[in-house]
Amino acid sequence: MTHNDPKALYLSQLRDKDTGPAAFRKAAHQLTHLLAYEALSHLDTKSYTIETPFDRTAGIQISYPITLVPILRSGLSMLPVFLNYFPSASVGVLGLQRDKKTAETLQYYCNMPPLTPEHRVIILDPMIATGNTARTAFDILLKQVPIEHILFVGIISAAQGINTIKKAHPKAQLIVAGQDAHLNDQHFIVPGLGDFGDRYFGTVE
Ligand code: URA
Repeated sequence: MTHNDPKALYLSQLRDKDTGPAAFRKAAHQLTHLLAYEALSHLDTKSYTIETPFDRTAGIQISYPITLVPILRSGLSMLPVFLNYFPSASVGVLGLQRDKKTAETLQYYCNMPPLTPEHRVIILDPMIATGNTARTAFDILLKQVPIEHILFVGIISAAQGINTIKKAHPKAQLIVAGQDAHLNDQHFIVPGLGDFGDRYFGTVE
């Protein structure tokens, strides 16, 4: 990320411990707009002919179904913005929880719409720490959709998390706004931004 990357502006606000819940939410949404825009450019399009009021011209369209998969709870923060960009998308919800001691992933909820290999799936989860949650999400979705049709969108990743995902799924496609070096002994990303869900949902004192 360079200083000219507009994502750095909103990421800085999210990282700042003095950013309160309202400003945190606003910055998260602003950053998610930029990420959704980037996600759009990862999706292939098909050409078609448009009739304007005056003439015919060439246009492009996304001609396959899109499914958005927010991972509970933090992934919900990204859903409204992505639905703005993909209004016809179906939504599948995955409840994956990190065991606080072992950092292993536990699936406690899964409600997916029908998926076919033609679907393009966008997984939403702001923080890639150990990478176990993201890897599990890929494992689940790969039963129905090829890896080339799955895109993971997050806000901050730790190097360890990216390595875990890439080791399990070398062709995994990921978009993140920032990459941090390491995790602390509670598996939080450092420097990171703290607990994303607590700050976004205001569940912290
Ligand atoms: N989830 C968070 O919210 N923050 C981290 O640093 C890691 C995982």
